[in-house]
Amino acid sequence: MSAVKMDGKALSDKVRGSILAETEALKKKGVTPGLAVIIVGNDPASEIYVRNKEKACAACGFYSEKYALPAQTTQDELLGLIDQLNRSPQISGILCQLPVPDHISEQAVINAIDPKKDVDAFHPVNVGRIMVGSFDFAPCTPAGVMELLDEYGIDPKGRECVVVGRSNIVGKPMGMLLLHRHGTVTICHSRTQNLAEVCRRADILVAAVGKAGFITPDMIKDGAVVIDVGINRDANGKVCGDVDPAVMDKAAFMTPVPGGAGPMTITMLMKNTLTAAKLQNGL
Ligand code: NDP
Repeated sequence: MSAVKMDGKALSDKVRGSILAETEALKKKGVTPGLAVIIVGNDPASEIYVRNKEKACAACGFYSEKYALPAQTTQDELLGLIDQLNRSPQISGILCQLPVPDHISEQAVINAIDPKKDVDAFHPVNVGRIMVGSFDFAPCTPAGVMELLDEYGIDPKGRECVVVGRSNIVGKPMGMLLLHRHGTVTICHSRTQNLAEVCRRADILVAAVGKAGFITPDMIKDGAVVIDVGINRDANGKVCGDVDPAVMDKAAFMTPVPGGAGPMTITMLMKNTLTAAKLQNGL
């Protein structure tokens, strides 16, 4: 058996098409979604992410502003810019690309963004709203995974869902979204004992570890759905996921890397920006 490849690129194109159509309709009502992207310093990976976000804005018909600030920008200067963007009527969503340089507090940056414009859904208000199940935006990577599951008709209800990784941006919110959809959720981390055994229980396994090929076929139940969120480089510098590609032979569905969960993340950022624009204009 070889798993069905869950095509995040195709789904992403489809969702971006519907976002563009909705944006065109909004523009006729005088509303253009606007995203401000801030990058501090010159981390090469962050620069690629920011460029991709600008391209996605253009593909969705959004207005966008990019602020590339030098690494020595002070925290006060950055918070000042965020305050200005919080008050800008052209800007529906604000994103500060993480990580920021060490002299700036990541949490201070997250806390400074108006929760209504927090399209990453990292602000404590939005984190709390995700916890209680009453939210406008979900963090982009877990939200993209949920869209992929829906697209392939995979319902988490009543199923064993195992998330490997407990970061605030992926693992924890992923667990909450699966729980809201009535999955039976286990979140694993570096102190989990008998990890392989826990993973073998999974009907749906989400890997968000950050280690190339970490999830191996012996950790997978036959016929499981395997979502690989990892973006790593192998020994040859090639992009690869957290899941050993040999898992394809055991799983029923699996996301490839690249082309699975990755493209959906930026598309969900666009979806959140559209939602923010609508909410801010009472639509
Ligand atoms: P973090 O480094 O913040 O978290 C990694 C998690 O994996 C931690 O909770 C850690 O546990 C856990 N972990 C590490 N080693 C083990 C182990 N041996 N056994 C079990 N658990 C372990 O990473 P992120 O959540 O930010 O990202 C995870 C991966 O997803 C990365 O490859 C990243 O590049 C990718 N990513 C992809 C995105 C996309 O767009 N598709 C977006 C964001 C991330 P502990 O908490 O105990 O340390």
